[in-house]
Amino acid sequence: MRSPFARACALALVVPLFAASNASAADPGEVNIYSYRQPYLIDLLLNEFTEETGIKINVIFAEKGLIERIQAEGRNSPADVLLTVDVGNLTQATDAGIAQPIQSAALEAAIPPAYRATDGEWVGLTRRARVVYASKERVKQDKISYKELADPKWRRKICIRSGQHVYNVALIASMIAHHGEEWTEAWLRGVKANLARKPADDDRLQVKGVYAGECDLAVGNTYYMGRDADKDSEQKEWANSARFPDSDDRGTHVNISGAVVAKYARHKDNAIKLPEFLSSDKGQEMYADVNNEYPVKEGIPWSKLVQS
Ligand code: FE
Repeated sequence: MRSPFARACALALVVPLFAASNASAADPGEVNIYSYRQPYLIDLLLNEFTEETGIKINVIFAEKGLIERIQAEGRNSPADVLLTVDVGNLTQATDAGIAQPIQSAALEAAIPPAYRATDGEWVGLTRRARVVYASKERVKQDKISYKELADPKWRRKICIRSGQHVYNVALIASMIAHHGEEWTEAWLRGVKANLARKPADDDRLQVKGVYAGECDLAVGNTYYMGRDADKDSEQKEWANSARFPDSDDRGTHVNISGAVVAKYARHKDNAIKLPEFLSSDKGQEMYADVNNEYPVKEGIPWSKLVQS
């Protein structure tokens, strides 16, 4: 008979990663991961986790629907850990009741309190900055604040993905926190009037818009620049066409990626070990290098590209 995990996996892209087989008396067991984070990023980290702990990993990757799926699976859910981006998704998971609070001295030591829930229901594992990409050719300003995106001088000059996307929802929420609702509504009307085209696609394709001359400014997360610049491809040219002006006034909007341990996790101990590994020096260094995100842990060096 197939295990609940095997059954659950039948409908999804599954990449099982196996421990270097070393049959010892104490089998470290396994852990089941549902991941919104993509394989190219996560595989290296998970392989390293298995190498260090001996814990076998089963992982389902999906772009959407994982929180709803864990909710629908209820007590039968094979999920032990959910890996996701954006604090909006982490709180969606806790609001949906699929998470459980975890206590871990290692997590508390590694992750500053600002980047984890006080009750331990979610933990942040990386930080990501949401910035303005400006055309090197057409924009000479050294500073551009978020406020300024509503300035009429940028009429039809801005590319940005949908305002409904969780990355922009968080940015807008931060504007409300800093400036109030009424001010933010007026600001949004100004930004909308400045759009070069209807919002669509992801952050990368906004930067492509700068490269293609469709817009002078794009809003996007910094690591896309890293990913693009790393590749010897067309994307590298997109990234090279833009630079990051200083964010000015309130500073740069920073979000996190993170993890929750599922409420009905059957491998709870192993589930906790995963964020512990990901927030260890090794895990944080790998995140910083592979995806050009900012570590949450103090003292871990940023990737060379991010430093530049
Ligand atoms: Fe992203």
